[in-house]
Amino acid sequence: MELKKRTMPKELQIFNSLAPRLELTSRDKQTHHSIKKGYEGELMFDQILDNQLQREHLIIKDLLLNYDSNTFQIDTLIIFPSIIEFFEVKNFEGEHHYDKKRDKFYKNTDFEIQNPEHQMSRAETLLRKLLNQHGYQVGLRGTVVFINPEFTLYNYTPDKPFVLPTQINPLMRKLNQIPSRKITNQHKSIGNKLLSLHEKDYPVKKVPEYTFRELKKGINCYHCNSLSISLRGHYCYCSECGGKELVKSAVLRSVQDFKLLFQKEKVTKAKIHEWCGGMVTEQRIMRILAQNFQMFSKNRWAYYEPKTTSK
Ligand SMILES: [Zn+2]
Repeated sequence: MELKKRTMPKELQIFNSLAPRLELTSRDKQTHHSIKKGYEGELMFDQILDNQLQREHLIIKDLLLNYDSNTFQIDTLIIFPSIIEFFEVKNFEGEHHYDKKRDKFYKNTDFEIQNPEHQMSRAETLLRKLLNQHGYQVGLRGTVVFINPEFTLYNYTPDKPFVLPTQINPLMRKLNQIPSRKITNQHKSIGNKLLSLHEKDYPVKKVPEYTFRELKKGINCYHCNSLSISLRGHYCYCSECGGKELVKSAVLRSVQDFKLLFQKEKVTKAKIHEWCGGMVTEQRIMRILAQNFQMFSKNRWAYYEPKTTSK
């Protein structure tokens, strides 16, 4: 049973929104690329688990936890009746070297990167302490999964908690051989406790600074993210990729992007009109906002917030 789905990391959402609107430095482009790649790797692993895991389990996809002022992230956590398995997923590509003597990890032969085992061990220690703090004494095992089929690791020693791309199917077989017992309320209580501790509003750190004024305005393409959009009737058309989208849904997406990038700003028809590059009339924006949002204050400074759903 899935206790928590994976959603696109906020940092990646922000980068995606900024990419067509701001001249990113090469360093920012690199960060954007690596966050995107990491997320794609996690989705690949999710798909394998969703298709192949047969044993009764509870799964939590993406957890951000804190123990004693130390924040740590867990990509995938699976509660089996007899053990908690968690996975750090790495979407590294190309040749990598492990230097056993120095316990160091290199891309190619000379570019040192953080040894993923260290990251995983840190998470394991903190997670164990966190579980103990809440009264749970359970078996815990962390594994680093290298998900990319084009990843190679030289000098790999099998005593490491690594799963290489060719070992993913054997990993699934191993997980499916875990003695079958029932998930009990105790397991559910561990899962729900971890979910309650998940830090939803952790501040994003790696994104560049930006202001409303400096960002390029316009509607971005739903498919290719470019701002090469023109309007005809009810549709937006992209001259880059030929994509087509209803104006209404493009405006609503633009509002979401605006809210993501400017959390403290109020959504007004004038602001969204400007944000969409002046392509959609204020009147049309107002209609779309009125249909989908709740309006506050009725004068010309009216602003809109998501409708609160009544039960
Ligand atoms: Zn496009």
